Amino acid sequence: MKALRRALRRRIRWGSPSLGGLVRAASVLSVAFMAILATPAVAYYQEPGLEGVSSRLAGRKVTIECLTPREERRDIYISLGVEAYVTWKTLKGRRIVGSVARFRGVHCDNLVALMAGDLSGRRFHDVAWSVLVIVHESGHLKGAKWSFDEAKTQCWAMQKLPAALDMLGVPDSFFRDMLIRQIKWIHHNELNGNYQLEGCQAAE
Ligand SMILES: [Zn+2]
Repeated sequence: MKALRRALRRRIRWGSPSLGGLVRAASVLSVAFMAILATPAVAYYQEPGLEGVSSRLAGRKVTIECLTPREERRDIYISLGVEAYVTWKTLKGRRIVGSVARFRGVHCDNLVALMAGDLSGRRFHDVAWSVLVIVHESGHLKGAKWSFDEAKTQCWAMQKLPAALDMLGVPDSFFRDMLIRQIKWIHHNELNGNYQLEGCQAAE
């Protein structure tokens, strides 16, 4: 049994993700909102913060690691310009999505500031990018059939923007509409063809 487990372990190689690599070319949930979504069977839905949001989007409990500048320099993907990525492994030739996403630290900072309703000193464009990062990576973390496909993951993310903004505590407002428009702009102008799915329409 031990030998089998050892053999199995050898075949599991934690990777690395070009999967999940998104490359760049206020306040907590309302009580009413929580009441609708919170059921005892899915306790992680009630978790606050970025992991709570990502877990709800992914439909399972996930971990977000926010890298420090030092960690970013040592991370092979982030240091090459990737904004965020999801871990995965190969088991008997099959790729399996892990439950950990690693974010460039600034995205965590932007998202925490957005949830706290205080964006002073932050660029609007950067905040929009960070929203896209958490929604897109949550699509990878979902582990759906399409989760290894960048364009399908990105299309899913664009559909989930309104729900994600609810979870991040950004209510219906002019600001929220501006964020969605900015993310659409990023989608069309700063993401390359790998992220474009024909006929994919963003939700408003
Ligand atoms: Zn991706």
